[in-house]
Amino acid sequence: MEEFQSVSALIESLKKLPGIGRKSAERMAYQILQMKPEKIDQMVTALKNARDNIDICPICGSFRENKNCPICSDMSRDQDTLIVVTSFKDLLAIEKINSYHGLYHVLGGNLSPTKGIGTKDINIEGLFNRVREGNLKEVILATDLTLDGETTALYIAKLLSSYPISVSRLAYGLPMGGQLEYADELTLAKSIEGRNFIKKEL
Ligand SMILES: [Zn+2]
Repeated sequence: MEEFQSVSALIESLKKLPGIGRKSAERMAYQILQMKPEKIDQMVTALKNARDNIDICPICGSFRENKNCPICSDMSRDQDTLIVVTSFKDLLAIEKINSYHGLYHVLGGNLSPTKGIGTKDINIEGLFNRVREGNLKEVILATDLTLDGETTALYIAKLLSSYPISVSRLAYGLPMGGQLEYADELTLAKSIEGRNFIKKEL
């Protein structure tokens, strides 16, 4: 028997999610089909609301809801310190430790010569627009401790060297080759606290 057309389409959609292969997508699709119709409606509504209400903040590159970015609009944050992270999940990981109260910049990826990801593919220009505004005193580079994350941090550090601001990189102690989002809270807090200055302005 061939697969029903509507089910095939659902499986194809689910397969687009990261880490979901054919088998998982099939299992999810048939589980959804066994749900009560009103539960499926709730799921569809949640997806639609997320699509309509959530977008990317044009300033920091993080997600925002109803055009309101909870980070950029929070004036109680230190307006002169900014952490550069690879992904939104890294931002969440740092927010969770509750010891950093500055601004963020989400790149949305790392530079990667092997994957063909260049400077135009990630949100680097936005970062420099913010640096040029002149309110920042320190930029902390907290990109992943992978080869690509290091490449990205070095590239940004080099470009930042011509601006009168301090530039630092998270202290090692974080697992090498690791993604920030998986670091435990204490290690992450310590690595921000003991960050290494690449360049220090007085
Ligand atoms: Zn923002």
